[in-house]
Amino acid sequence: MTSDCIFCKIAAHEVKAGIVYEDEDLVAFHDIHPKYLVHLLIIPKQHVASSSELGPEHDAVAGKLLRIGAALAEKQGIAASGFRLVANTGPNAGQAVDHLHIHLFGGSPLRPL
Ligand code: 5GP
Ligand code: ZN
Repeated sequence: MTSDCIFCKIAAHEVKAGIVYEDEDLVAFHDIHPKYLVHLLIIPKQHVASSSELGPEHDAVAGKLLRIGAALAEKQGIAASGFRLVANTGPNAGQAVDHLHIHLFGGSPLRPL
């Protein structure tokens, strides 16, 4: 737990969020400012600042972030219509929260990359 990290606080249930999934490793919740009809964030409970900070010790949890992201797309009913999993990393990507998170976007056509 990093004391000033908002996503650590959500993972610890110290700050409220619309949590849709939780297990021993991960939490998924609705983004507070959704950019698409479906916009979830999937985070590791352990504080990792960004994808740049992932080491071999994170291989299992990093893989699980993707697997659960896709499973949540299925659960949200957007697997067939299509979705995007995104990890913004660093200033040029507009990363605003320095706790690794995967965005799940979908529910309507996504802007081309
Ligand atoms: P980034 O730009 O870092 O990839 O995305 C951070 C995301 O976190 C943004 O889409 C923002 O709306 C969301 N966010 C920031 N603070 C909170 C919060 O306190 N609660 C929730 N549910 N989402 C947040
Ligand atoms: Zn954190």
